[in-house]
Amino acid sequence: MSQGKKEIDVAWIPTAEAQIGTAQEPLLIQAFLQHRQWLREQKEAAVQTRSLEKIDQVYQNGQQPISCAAGCAACCHARVDISKHEKRLILAHLKTNPVTIDRERLAVQTQALREGTWDQLPFPARQCVFLDKSSRCSIYEARPLLCRRYFVTSDRQHCYAENWSQISRVTNPDADAFLSAVFTKFKFEALPVFLSENLDRL
Ligand code: SF4
Repeated sequence: MSQGKKEIDVAWIPTAEAQIGTAQEPLLIQAFLQHRQWLREQKEAAVQTRSLEKIDQVYQNGQQPISCAAGCAACCHARVDISKHEKRLILAHLKTNPVTIDRERLAVQTQALREGTWDQLPFPARQCVFLDKSSRCSIYEARPLLCRRYFVTSDRQHCYAENWSQISRVTNPDADAFLSAVFTKFKFEALPVFLSENLDRL
C-alpha cells in the first residue's frame, strides 16, 4: 500500500482509485492536502456549497457524453455514506416531503451493514429505500454527495450487469481530491443505518 492510499480514503472515488500508485499520485496528494487545509478554515455551509460546485465541475469537464439518465438506477444499489451536513438536509427534506419507505428492506440493509455483509446482499436487496417505483430518487433535491458524483460514459447495460470492468466513469483529479478531503475530515455513516435510527423521530 502506498503512502497516498493511507492518507486518502479512495474506496469510492474513481479518479483517486485509478491514480494511486501511478505518476499522477503526488499531484493527487498535493491537491488533497490543499483542499484539506481549505476545509479546516471553512464554515459548514461553505463546505456544502463547494462540494456541489466540485461535482458540477466533474459533470462539465466530461470528455465524452454521459450515459446516465433519469430512470437509470443501477448506482442506487451501491452503499451510500453521508455526513452530518447531509443528514440534516435529508431530515429537513423528509419533514416537508414525506416518502414511503420499505422498512423491511431498510432493516435488512441496516443489519447487513452492521454485520459487514453488505456486499453479500443480492442486488435487489441493496436497492436504496429512496428509489421510487419509477426508478427515480424520491429525495432528489437533498440526495447525498456520493449520489451526485458518479457519471458513467459506458453503455448503461453494463451497470445493471454489475460488470465493473465494462464500466467507464468520468474522472476529475481535483474534484475527487476535494471530496476525499471532505470524507476524511467529517465522520460519515451509512445512509440505511442513519435512517433506521432516525426515521421515527420525524
Ligand atoms: S438517495 Fe436517491 S440518488 Fe442516492 S442512492 Fe438513494 S435513490 Fe439513488
